[in-house]
Amino acid sequence: MSEQTFIIVGASLAGAKAAEELRGRGFDGRIVLIGAEPERPYERPPLTKDYLRGESPREKAYVHETDFYTEHEIELLTSTRVATLDPGASRITLADGRELGFDRLLLATGAEPRRIPIPGADLEGVHSLRTLADCDQLRDRIGAGGHVVVVGAGWIGSEFAASARQRGLEVTVIDPLALPNERVFGPEIGSFYRDVHAQHGVELLLGDGVEAFEGDAAIARVRTASGRVVDCDFAVVGIGVMPRVELAEHAGLEVDNGVLVDEQLQTSAPGVFAAGDIARAWHPFFGERIRVEHWANALNQGPAAARAMLGEPGSYDRIPYFFSDQYEVGMEYSGHAPQWDEVVFRGDRNDGEFIAFWLQDGRVIAGMNVNVWDVNETIQTLIRSRQAVDVGALTDSDTPLESLLAQPVT
Ligand SMILES: Cc1cc2nc3c(=O)[nH]c(=O)nc-3n(C[C@H](O)[C@H](O)[C@H](O)COP(=O)(O)OP(=O)(O)OC[C@H]3O[C@@H](n4cnc5c(N)ncnc54)[C@H](O)[C@@H]3O)c2cc1C
Repeated sequence: MSEQTFIIVGASLAGAKAAEELRGRGFDGRIVLIGAEPERPYERPPLTKDYLRGESPREKAYVHETDFYTEHEIELLTSTRVATLDPGASRITLADGRELGFDRLLLATGAEPRRIPIPGADLEGVHSLRTLADCDQLRDRIGAGGHVVVVGAGWIGSEFAASARQRGLEVTVIDPLALPNERVFGPEIGSFYRDVHAQHGVELLLGDGVEAFEGDAAIARVRTASGRVVDCDFAVVGIGVMPRVELAEHAGLEVDNGVLVDEQLQTSAPGVFAAGDIARAWHPFFGERIRVEHWANALNQGPAAARAMLGEPGSYDRIPYFFSDQYEVGMEYSGHAPQWDEVVFRGDRNDGEFIAFWLQDGRVIAGMNVNVWDVNETIQTLIRSRQAVDVGALTDSDTPLESLLAQPVT
């Protein structure tokens, strides 16, 4: 029986999956999983989708059954905040003053919504959406109907807008960009999603920022930079997230847009690891450090960190992947494309069923399949192959995607 204590800070997807992996690999020492939220670990994607709309039970959102943690002798401390980390002394202090020593520690403290620094941001009825508690409040708001202003047309804002429309609310989306998610995916995908929302009756005020929320005690209207005034019953702010790095920073770990980790997910302090939204990890395939704020990364990086904590060899080199569901439009995206030469399409965007490929130097560096399924693995293989592709074949729906792998263009 091991005498060792492994502590996991952050009881969400990355943390819970790491704890599961530790037991799964036979670690029989002490595991303490500590989370600031009152809930046992749960997944966040349902909070903009089926759970938000009241279409799925709360139980479905949790990562594990209630008994999982006791059955696996994982000490789950909920409503418990870790206040300090001392890597030199291998100790943490909890907010209530208790101290705990560790042999290995995993930081999985995730990310938190960016606050909007404008007048009225603290008014009643101005919401953000990160936790189950946030979502429960918004479920009630949606249930009461009315008009919601969504600030930010990124994935959270867009998914919330779609769910609110599906529940019959009047929805206005405001974003300073000309098109949703334009900076990351380009105008082709941005205009596709703009049109999807417009077709579902969302009012889009694009190329315009929000300057103030106004009202007496509660929000009653939103004023934009261009001087527009939009009356509303409540607002949801989805303008991105920031990695929760305070603990790491105060501990003296290297931090730069996330906690810096190597390909084994170890931080600059030996024995201290980081995974999920908080980690900016060296990626051996891309040859740079990347931080990924998506579900699949937390799902897979947590267990990878657990294996590294056990001293098992291996590096984390998965191709980043995420998914989004809005109305009847489901999509998956794989890859990492900070810049690209062109975006080409297989299938017609007007039919709502297509695959977009981001190309650089004739190679596929990312792909998004929209309402086309069972292709994402092939897209990832294409990316990994780094081979130049025949664009004619790539964009021809009658040519099987797999055949491109067999016929590299030299
Ligand atoms: C509403 C919503 C919908 C989403 N939908 C999708 C989707 O459709 N597709 C997709 O790919 N991704 C989606 N995501 C992103 C995905 O959920 C995140 O990438 C994932 O939750 C990251 O998991 P994590 O474990 O790294 O961190 P988090 O989920 O952020 O969890 C970190 C936990 O650490 C706790 N914590 C922080 N500091 C401390 C401390 N000092 N002491 C104790 N505990 C602490 C926090 O309270 C929190 O519970 C969505 C996110 C949200 C918010």
